[in-house]
Amino acid sequence: MHIHSRFSDGTETIGAIVERAMQLRLEVIAICDHFWPSIGSNQGGIGLIRERKEAIEAARADFPKIRVLNGAEIDIMPDGTFSQVAGGHEQFDHVIGSVHWGSDSSRWASAVIGASKRGVMHVLGHFDGYLSTYRQVDGEIVAASLAENEVAVELNSRYPPDNIGFFETAKDQGCRFTLGSDAHWLNGVGQTEEQAKLAEALKLPLWVPP
Ligand SMILES: [Zn+2]
Ligand SMILES: [Zn+2]
Repeated sequence: MHIHSRFSDGTETIGAIVERAMQLRLEVIAICDHFWPSIGSNQGGIGLIRERKEAIEAARADFPKIRVLNGAEIDIMPDGTFSQVAGGHEQFDHVIGSVHWGSDSSRWASAVIGASKRGVMHVLGHFDGYLSTYRQVDGEIVAASLAENEVAVELNSRYPPDNIGFFETAKDQGCRFTLGSDAHWLNGVGQTEEQAKLAEALKLPLWVPP
């Protein structure tokens, strides 16, 4: 549920990604590019985003057996707002909100809680990928806000989690979970085995967008 194409900082075309996912017998994938001014890409603008949407529609037509979500990974800013995207956040089927700046536990908590209330993101990406400290009390209030606002928690292969306690708290609060390879190249697509094992060990309920 988290793949980058060459429309941001990935190396592959959308057609190649979807073909690879078909070969792996995946049933649903989300292409989640970042767009400038999000940190992960210096590409953006309405023309690029339209071209990308057309590429996704073409791949859906070529590979009708797999569901391909038109997603985005959008930066959560320190004040709990989201980085802007040309054409708006609502145009995407699936939005991952991610923190891409180093922070401690309390700054992280206030940003993520603020973001979770905005009705923009469906998933919190790599929750501790940029965290210098983690306190369980902050994890508890973040998890409560995510659950209340129906934001899922991602298990991300590129940023294996250090703070497993957050997943357990999120599960207890009623959150759902997604698996994301965060693939930026072809052989990363579908590489979620380790995170799937962790989800199984912790009995985390996995969720796929309807
Ligand atoms: Zn990210
Ligand atoms: Zn990513």
